[in-house]
Amino acid sequence: MDIILPKFCVGCNRKDCFFCDDCFSMIDISPYRYCCCAHPTRLSLDQSCSKCAHRSLDRIYSASSLEDKFAKKLIYETRSHFQIKELCLPISAMILTHLKYIDFEFDESMMFIPVPIHKKEERVRGFSQSKEIVRIISNTIPMPCSFDNLVRIRDSGDIKGCFSVNTPDTIKDKIILLIDDVFMTGSTMEECAKVLKDNGAKSVYGITALRKPPERLT
Ligand SMILES: [Zn+2]
Ligand SMILES: [Zn+2]
Repeated sequence: MDIILPKFCVGCNRKDCFFCDDCFSMIDISPYRYCCCAHPTRLSLDQSCSKCAHRSLDRIYSASSLEDKFAKKLIYETRSHFQIKELCLPISAMILTHLKYIDFEFDESMMFIPVPIHKKEERVRGFSQSKEIVRIISNTIPMPCSFDNLVRIRDSGDIKGCFSVNTPDTIKDKIILLIDDVFMTGSTMEECAKVLKDNGAKSVYGITALRKPPERLT
């Protein structure tokens, strides 16, 4: 039996929706590109700054900042006890809007891969937000997706050695668009990018809804 939750906006408590258009319009979506550094440099083109050129993660695109009140509510309610899968729709809309603002060009060598969450977390929540975001985005942008290829082989301890690729042939010479909800320190994405490249991926671009920078991303 499906349990029907009473719908209310997590941004303003308005009834009959999980995140209303008014709250979505309050989110500052960045029209800029930044490098992967903890103190990011705004980039005019898709290049790296000299400090982060050595990383496995080639680029990061984040729609908004963790300092954005409405975006933060949206993301954290999805992660909280509410477990509302429908909130992945506005999260995906944030990402798609950002990619449009920066004129992101998709090409046929690209492939979406979600960052795998902890198995226990997925079991408790009933879904993985990164997988759900990939599903939604790929409905708008018909690109190949690879689910359950990049996997988490360990849930605890050092992030190094936590990930593995099941079928390296699938990602060979591909540009991987690695999807997650939040880019915090970047260590998870960096480790995923390293494993993907060790298994034949040509480049890895991270794409997230939020980023934790010391400054705003707008
Ligand atoms: Zn609202
Ligand atoms: Zn940098």
